[in-house]
Amino acid sequence: MESVLVSACLMGRPVRFDGAAKPVVGLTGDGDDHAPGAILARWRSEGRAVVYCPEVGGGLGVPRPPAEIENAAGARAVLDGTARIVTPQGVDVTRAYLAGAHAALETARSAGVRVAVVKESSPSCGLRQVYDGTFAGKTVSGPGVTTRLLLDHGIAVYTERDIPAAQAHLTALEQGGP
Ligand code: SF4
Repeated sequence: MESVLVSACLMGRPVRFDGAAKPVVGLTGDGDDHAPGAILARWRSEGRAVVYCPEVGGGLGVPRPPAEIENAAGARAVLDGTARIVTPQGVDVTRAYLAGAHAALETARSAGVRVAVVKESSPSCGLRQVYDGTFAGKTVSGPGVTTRLLLDHGIAVYTERDIPAAQAHLTALEQGGP
């Protein structure tokens, strides 16, 4: 059975910077069986969900200050050491975010993960967009640092908006597909 890495907050764990979770609709099984959360709940009961929070894994606490990639520089620049992740007060938290990204990759590889489902817009877990470093609610295209690292190592990444597609990918892999 294919394992799948899932952002912990999507699985209902209260690990976000503000101490909240972001459970996907249907996770508790009290709604539509086809709701995205019902798929996550099934992955959990099947034992294939590898639930992980890179920021907690990198040593950050809950709650913690929000943080963004400075100057809309992008995750690649952070991984290359030419950009920082900072809090609104300008505290450099890059080291913890990078530690969490590498720990997430190691956790995924140890479990043989080839597919991940992540929380969009997070400086760690975002896929298509992250906040631009101004703390003004503005986004720029591009992934967070953990997602960038997962993609660089050949792991297919989906967000909470694409959970049926992630399920289809897992099924294809189990049927011997790419
Ligand atoms: Fe969720 Fe990822 Fe943020 Fe952790 S780092 S709270 S898993 S979005």
